[in-house]
Amino acid sequence: MGKKQKTCEFKTEVQQLLHLIINSLYSNREIFVRELISNASDAIDKAKFKEQTEPDLYKDDTDHHIRVSVDPDKKIFKIEDNGIGMTYDEVNDNIGTIAQSGTAAFMEALEKSKSENTLSPDLIGQFGVGFYSAFIVASKIILTTKAAGEKMGVRWTSDGKGSYTIEEVKKESRGTEITLELKDPEDGEQNFTEEYTIRNIVKKHSDFVQYPIIMNVEKIEPIPENEQIKDKDGKVVGETTRKKQEDETLNSMKAIWSRSKEDVTEEEYEEFYKHISHNWDKPVARIHKRFEGVTEYDVLMFLPSKAPFDLFQANKKNGMQLYCKRVFIMDDCKELLPEYLGFVQGVVDAPDLNLNVSREILQEDRFVRSIRKNLVKQIFSILKDMEKEKYEEFYEEFGKALKAGVPTDFDNKDKIASLLRYKTTKSDGKYISLDEYIENMKDDQKEIYYITGEDINSLANSPLIEALKEKDYEVLLMIDPVDEWVVQSLTEYKEKKLKSAEKGDLDVNKVDDKQKGEYSALLKFIKDKLGDKVKDVEVSSRLKDSVSCLSADDFAMSSYMEKILKASGQDAPDQKRTMEVNISHPVMDKIKTIFETDTNNPAIQDYSDLLFDLAVVSEGGKVSNPSKFSKLVGDLMVNAL
Ligand code: ADP
Repeated sequence: MGKKQKTCEFKTEVQQLLHLIINSLYSNREIFVRELISNASDAIDKAKFKEQTEPDLYKDDTDHHIRVSVDPDKKIFKIEDNGIGMTYDEVNDNIGTIAQSGTAAFMEALEKSKSENTLSPDLIGQFGVGFYSAFIVASKIILTTKAAGEKMGVRWTSDGKGSYTIEEVKKESRGTEITLELKDPEDGEQNFTEEYTIRNIVKKHSDFVQYPIIMNVEKIEPIPENEQIKDKDGKVVGETTRKKQEDETLNSMKAIWSRSKEDVTEEEYEEFYKHISHNWDKPVARIHKRFEGVTEYDVLMFLPSKAPFDLFQANKKNGMQLYCKRVFIMDDCKELLPEYLGFVQGVVDAPDLNLNVSREILQEDRFVRSIRKNLVKQIFSILKDMEKEKYEEFYEEFGKALKAGVPTDFDNKDKIASLLRYKTTKSDGKYISLDEYIENMKDDQKEIYYITGEDINSLANSPLIEALKEKDYEVLLMIDPVDEWVVQSLTEYKEKKLKSAEKGDLDVNKVDDKQKGEYSALLKFIKDKLGDKVKDVEVSSRLKDSVSCLSADDFAMSSYMEKILKASGQDAPDQKRTMEVNISHPVMDKIKTIFETDTNNPAIQDYSDLLFDLAVVSEGGKVSNPSKFSKLVGDLMVNAL
């Protein structure tokens, strides 16, 4: 027994996940083969990548392959790879847990699907739980693994019920070996110790895997003449054939991307997508192309239909893999697509690349840059031409990701902008594009108006846009935090400026100067009463029905931005905003009368506070002294009734 043996309980969420997998995927039992092969293939990819930078550690074992073997008597299914292997700590972190970052998201999705009664394989596919699928068929799993350079191997054992054990063990070779003790198949169920069954499953799900999937199979061969048993007349009396065991490669390893489109079936594309993405959704689109010209390369990319739960996690893996003449170079190839398109899953095979590339060299490579440019172009063109409804579904999932490209991809800013969709004050809950917005603009309207905030209903009813509504101008309602960054970098679209409804002079409703003058003494007085709660108090040109609101300068931070920054723990200066009052509102007239009769009337202090609090409330904010606020409103009601 190794020195570091320990037994751990599965965390609750892992137990729930296991339960979910076993129940919802039971009719799909064979997929565990694909999942384990995918993991093995990934592990070999990683080993190959390391081989380039640490040849001493890896060069002893470069005959990369995956081996499947079975023992029908003992009901054992086994899969081995000579990939990267895992250290004790890696087994501890990776097997028997769900990646920390994913836990919360997973629990949420699990609860949701429970309440909606839709425990679907899709859900599972999003959480990268491939390994656990083996518990559908196995009553016990024994994983033994060794990482390059380690003295000892590690064994992980579990029956998938409550706990698992990890211990150090002896293991000769690098890589991972997973042994499944199979449950008895019920009548009519597949038997995973049958050669024929495994052969079919591998062909169906894993044919294109780039490493040989080898199985020792039984073959029948003719017995050579001179070994045949003959009688004295020379007539053969014994068998003419005999059985022999022989290694056979079960997969064709045909690189699907280097075949011509016509030769690849839908099923093959789908299986390949599942293999590279670890997702189980059906992609919304794919791009399969050979680029020819000064240099040639093959591209096969898929746009997923479902956003992964960790779409915005820092250091999220990029979905592109780089190959050179069908030889894997690297996955997570951030040089092939900008980060905001990292959700695209695919492969580029560039025969002219220098095989000994490092990531640093790749970044500088002119050729790689031109591939990247081309891929981005392809993706935009497919999105642009996508049918409206389909695109909107895609946008619901990945719109946020695209938006992140506006501030980061200067060259494509306008293209991304044309792909943005927003709900507006006039769109009745539907999405419109900026082009449609411009088409719908009023004759006298010069700018594209938007407002940012957390909640679409509060935005649609915000006092800040009353005057715009009065003019029948449409306002984009932006509720993604990332929209704040979009509008900061997208200052105009097709020569129309984007203008925040909460900032600066809206220039829509001129209040005449004489009227303004009549109020200047009162407003100055209110400003003094409110002190440093506000930057200033001004006559509003954006209010119609409400009496007050808070606005900011053209170059100030929006209130939503301030909120986002604070929520993310960043220093956001407490920005003072200007309180605007609506002087066509009867209340202002009354306050002015009181003020002009008796400047010292204490009611004016109360009204000043109320005007401010109302402005805060109307944008969904919290008043700083709620009990005082409700007392003042209560007093007013008494007086009014
Ligand atoms: P996923 O493959 O989606 O990440 P799994 O639960 O199947 O989820 O695997 C968890 C992790 O365990 C993998 O990300 C990988 O780091 C590690 N792993 C699984 N199988 C192997 C293997 N054959 N060789 C090396 N590492 C492996």
